[in-house]
Amino acid sequence: METLVYRYGHRIARDKRITTHVALVARAFGADGIIIDTEDKTIEDGINKVVDRFGGDFSIKTGIPWRRFFNEWDGKIVHLTMYGIPVDRVIEDIRKEEKILVVVGSEKVPGDFYRIADYNVAIGNQPHSEVASLAVFLHFLNEGEWLRKEFGGIIKIIPSERGKKIEYDYIKMLEVEGCSKAVINHCIKVAELAVEIAKKIRENGNNVDIDAVRAGALLHDIGRSRTHGIMHVVEGVKIARKYSLPPKIIDIIEHHVGAGIDADEAEKLGLPREDYIPKSIEEKIVAHADNLTSYGYRTVDEVAEKWRKKIGENAVKKLLAMHEELSKLAGMDIDDIVAMMKNKNK
Ligand code: SAM
Repeated sequence: METLVYRYGHRIARDKRITTHVALVARAFGADGIIIDTEDKTIEDGINKVVDRFGGDFSIKTGIPWRRFFNEWDGKIVHLTMYGIPVDRVIEDIRKEEKILVVVGSEKVPGDFYRIADYNVAIGNQPHSEVASLAVFLHFLNEGEWLRKEFGGIIKIIPSERGKKIEYDYIKMLEVEGCSKAVINHCIKVAELAVEIAKKIRENGNNVDIDAVRAGALLHDIGRSRTHGIMHVVEGVKIARKYSLPPKIIDIIEHHVGAGIDADEAEKLGLPREDYIPKSIEEKIVAHADNLTSYGYRTVDEVAEKWRKKIGENAVKKLLAMHEELSKLAGMDIDDIVAMMKNKNK
């Protein structure tokens, strides 16, 4: 069944929060979209952001006056009102419909609503709220199925008895932010190498957060959805903050370029004057895996050769030092891991 919600009587100044809640309930409890009578771009943006992050196909339109919309609606109209027929007496008939518009008001609704509606439905005959009536109605409508709906979003909440457990779909995040296929493929390759390096370092008895390495590597270039210049670092950090990602991952994004950029170099390159040098083991692993990954994997000497001509000896020195440090931690030459990855991808 196609289910749209119509929110009547939205007043921008007074109803921002409650209309947002009507829209959030519509989305979470299984409706396909919401129409709001008064134009309100802030609410549209807010709901679209939730859809971007938490997933699902849910549309929102504002600035659609009711009379014309109701006249042109080719499904049934279900008006939620305390004066209507109790929901449990009509819900079976409504479930048989193909397309319904569920109308909720804010203050007094026009008398015409009661006449135009195919169903005037009461969620108990006491006055309460548009948010509550919509939630209970949608729960009756889909018999609780909304509880099992998979939204397939970037953010997935993992139920837990205490605390907050969140899973992110990083590839989807790259897609939603508008990264090209080439950037996404590069990020996947960097992540594969970075995780391999991290595993070897852990096997050699060192502490490494492999999940942070994977996440940071997948997201290190997310700022390339905005620019391919050096500022992609700053843009990447902004995007990561928008998703409230952990500081560990934000630091990997911020410190991934080359073998590290100090504040003086940063200023010359046009970055805000700050230190962009990888500090944690996870930051170093991702920065170095990125250095060793172009379209395919490269040995450190191949990279050094390129940098010598393009960037200069100072950068090469830092690259080789980082290679040595990570190789020591892994108990093997990182180039051997690169060779293994090359073979794997043949
Ligand atoms: N006094 C208003 C009226 O006469 O319509 C009620 C305003 S109420 C705060 C806002 C909206 O909540 C109503 O337009 C209706 O859609 C919904 N609502 C409130 N109580 C309800 C109930 N018992 N059953 C169904 N809907 C209800």
